[in-house]
Amino acid sequence: SGESEKYETVVSNTGNAIFGHRKIEIIFSIEFPQEFIFRDKDLTFRQLLGEGQFGTVSLHQYCPSETASSSGHSTFAVKRFKPGENKFQSHVEIIRELQTMISLKHEYVVELKGIALPSNGIVMEYLPIGSLYNYMINRKKRKAPFKSITGDLYRYLYQIAQGMVVLQELRIIHRDLAARNILLAADSNSNKMKAKISDFGLSRSLPSHQEEYFDAQIPLLPIKWLSPECYRNENPQFNLQSDVWGYGVTAYEILDNIPDTLYEMQRDELVKRINMGWKWPKPKACLDDHAWMYKMMLKCWHMKPEERITFPEIVRCFQKYKT
Ligand code: ADP
Ligand code: MG
Repeated sequence: SGESEKYETVVSNTGNAIFGHRKIEIIFSIEFPQEFIFRDKDLTFRQLLGEGQFGTVSLHQYCPSETASSSGHSTFAVKRFKPGENKFQSHVEIIRELQTMISLKHEYVVELKGIALPSNGIVMEYLPIGSLYNYMINRKKRKAPFKSITGDLYRYLYQIAQGMVVLQELRIIHRDLAARNILLAADSNSNKMKAKISDFGLSRSLPSHQEEYFDAQIPLLPIKWLSPECYRNENPQFNLQSDVWGYGVTAYEILDNIPDTLYEMQRDELVKRINMGWKWPKPKACLDDHAWMYKMMLKCWHMKPEERITFPEIVRCFQKYKT
């Protein structure tokens, strides 16, 4: 199924509160230190790495003309946003994504390197293995799907939860947690791979005095991964617990080997079911020793955000039931 099927219009509110003149001025007044700035002329395109709903990511070689640069000759992944209907909107999205990621350095979160100018590309570390989604799809195609939760899948889910704890400490709501937005990386401490949370295109940081984020501006949202409070009313509300729901769906995606049922379900049908209390079924692999994982997923899917399990609690579950 194509990328476009994963994101759908939730509200068609065309108000301009967020993109109003004042707010745009504020957003654009951010200054980036020199070490975060990459000149487009110093970046040479090598190959396309991936394409999502919002952007195109490609591999670039970086050869700065001023030799004084500390970064040296290296390769980076550069994400450029597809121009939206509103040109301003994609600029705002770029600056937002940078704002969110620049303060972050964590083992299980993709590292941002800076901004490419004047194209406004996001420069990040290059992770050659690519997304967990593609990795799992390729294994399925080669008739070598993951057979058990023990080991790799368990570790990825544990790592994603740990990365989310850090995002939450920074009051960042990701809003697009899904297997396609988890990248795999070689782990220098072992010969195994580790998971890194990426794609902050939809993420927002929540001001410290505010518990919820109101947003009627984003036209496309990944409904199947979204908690009901994000699309239920006229004014979708996001809070720090909204990502927990998406984590549960991501766990379902991963533990059930990227199930077709998830991708084939129609939006209206899903929303109807969710409102009636329906939950994604137990992945076949969640047997015996791993039954706790499905219990944990069910706790991610409480209708009320405050009743959901939290990321620190999820991390503690993984520690308690070590496999
Ligand atoms: P979108 O916002 O359009 O969804 P993403 O940031 O999710 O864009 O990137 C789209 C795809 O590009 C990913 O699913 C992945 O396959 C690839 N990709 C993204 N970032 C990197 C990276 N740092 N290294 C390698 N591949 C990447
Ligand atoms: Mg994406």
